[in-house]
Amino acid sequence: MVKVVRKELRNWYALHQRTLPWRSHPEPYRVWLSEVILQQTRVDQGLSYFNKFVETYPTISTLAAAPLDDILKLWQGLGYYSRARNLHFAANQVMEKHQGIFPSRYEDILGLKGVGSYTAAAISSIAYNQPKAVVDGNVTRVIARLFDITASVNQSTTLSQIQDLADALMDREHPSLHNQSMMEFGALQCVPKNPNCEVCPMSDVCQAREKNHVSLIPLKDKKTKRRSRYFHYVLAQYGDKIALSQRGTDDIWGGLFEFPLIENDSIDVLPPLHIEKALSISIKRIVKINSERKHVLSHQDIFANFYHAEIDGAIDDKLNLVAWADLHTFALPRLIDRYLENHDPISGEKRH
Ligand code: SF4
Repeated sequence: MVKVVRKELRNWYALHQRTLPWRSHPEPYRVWLSEVILQQTRVDQGLSYFNKFVETYPTISTLAAAPLDDILKLWQGLGYYSRARNLHFAANQVMEKHQGIFPSRYEDILGLKGVGSYTAAAISSIAYNQPKAVVDGNVTRVIARLFDITASVNQSTTLSQIQDLADALMDREHPSLHNQSMMEFGALQCVPKNPNCEVCPMSDVCQAREKNHVSLIPLKDKKTKRRSRYFHYVLAQYGDKIALSQRGTDDIWGGLFEFPLIENDSIDVLPPLHIEKALSISIKRIVKINSERKHVLSHQDIFANFYHAEIDGAIDDKLNLVAWADLHTFALPRLIDRYLENHDPISGEKRH
């Protein structure tokens, strides 16, 4: 079976692979960037982020030297901003520990911030042709189906069984080609819902197909419970300036900028006195309140109210007053960015 799978995968890949920029030039820096971006999004959307990053930062040294806020701005819209911060940190690790040359040893790649075993295997196999089997969500599904693994793939024992099988399947003569074929096969042919097994070159050896288990695999444990959060954003205006603060790094949107925020356990509109006390500001006038925008993240639903308020200039040290005209230069969470696309920032009226 192992030989059949390797050969059929290679043949299938030769016919069906997509042309992608990190494949045509698989330098380690580009492979790393692509893998980090693709952990966040699908290939079609990730492509434009990849192109933006390599145009702006064509080398690892340019990425390392860039201000973190600029990187966060470029990353805006992808979510999980800790990944962007890790990119910056790891680029500096390469500059300082590896003399600016992306490491080729698997253990050294694994030592870069934000790089786990999956990404390290992808870089060392695709960029350096080392026989490290990559196991991402697509590969997990392919292997679980080929070998009819009906245990939950969320469990560590199942994952290590799948990793062992991936290692056994690894084509040691063509590691880069083999891993890319596996990943692409999962992305395009052995898709999560209704794969077309009729045209699959591995249908004769696929055990899930033989046992009629394809739609059941991969089995996953129930997802963790979603969490609802309630954000009250105050667009505190002082002349042609607006108050901004920077988020800490221990929560969603770490390091991004936002309007002064009060988070509590309800979406009920807050009275001005409560806002003044919570944010240490003095409100002259509430201009408009727009309520209850829902923003869906992977494990959280954010409900937000936006209060447009005129304040006097005395504000808390944690807040900065920035010119409205400069607001677009700050990396903002997608929730705020979208709100500003649809609303006049001063009056709060909906744009037409
Ligand atoms: S036969 Fe169907 S389930 Fe099995 S590997 Fe092919 S596409 Fe996937």
